[in-house]
Amino acid sequence: MSTNKPTIDTIVLASNNSGKLREFHHMFSNSGITIMSQREFAISDTEETGLSFIENAILKARHACQHSKLPAIADDSGLAIDYLKGAPGIYSARYAGEHGNDEANNQKVLQQLSGQRQENRKAQFICALAFMQHAEDPTPIICQASWEGFILEQASGENGFGYDPLFWVPEKSCSSAELLPEIKNTLSHRAKALKKLLRALQEHRYIHT
Ligand code: IMP
Repeated sequence: MSTNKPTIDTIVLASNNSGKLREFHHMFSNSGITIMSQREFAISDTEETGLSFIENAILKARHACQHSKLPAIADDSGLAIDYLKGAPGIYSARYAGEHGNDEANNQKVLQQLSGQRQENRKAQFICALAFMQHAEDPTPIICQASWEGFILEQASGENGFGYDPLFWVPEKSCSSAELLPEIKNTLSHRAKALKKLLRALQEHRYIHT
């Protein structure tokens, strides 16, 4: 393992999703790293043309590095429902057509599962994270994790974002939108993937905390 790598104090988060930004700021709060949103560099979202969460995470991280000239982390995440063969999957943010219309996306999921019993409502949130030192980085660090649950028959809860009101969390007996943010940030797909990423950044000597 190389020992002469520069340590990193600032990382750009390649997302304009305010729900994700809130979660990342919270999860990095004790890491010694300043997380800056790509919005602070006026970087727009890039096209997600990949066919997997990992491919899209790399595309987003590379785009943020290119425009900020700083290291970047990108998250590509979504909901995968077993009965729907993994849909909405990488199309989670635009499942009902319009990008980021959480209300319409949730309605579409409820409609697709209408009348299905619990055994057909099994689902996972998936999160892929890509860290790149610079836009030409040939060895991005990739971490992926999932969070298992079930899709409720109606929305419940006000916290979080996206599909949180529909996602039943068995270990807490409530929906993800009923969890306090600090609890969600210890259990979620993003929390688990980020824990792996922080460990990898330490192993690669990019951070020392
Ligand atoms: P992305 O920004 O292209 O990665 O799309 C992610 C989409 O997946 C979001 O817009 C949400 O619809 C969904 N999603 C990802 N993570 C979560 C979560 O923690 N809670 C609820 N929905 C999520």
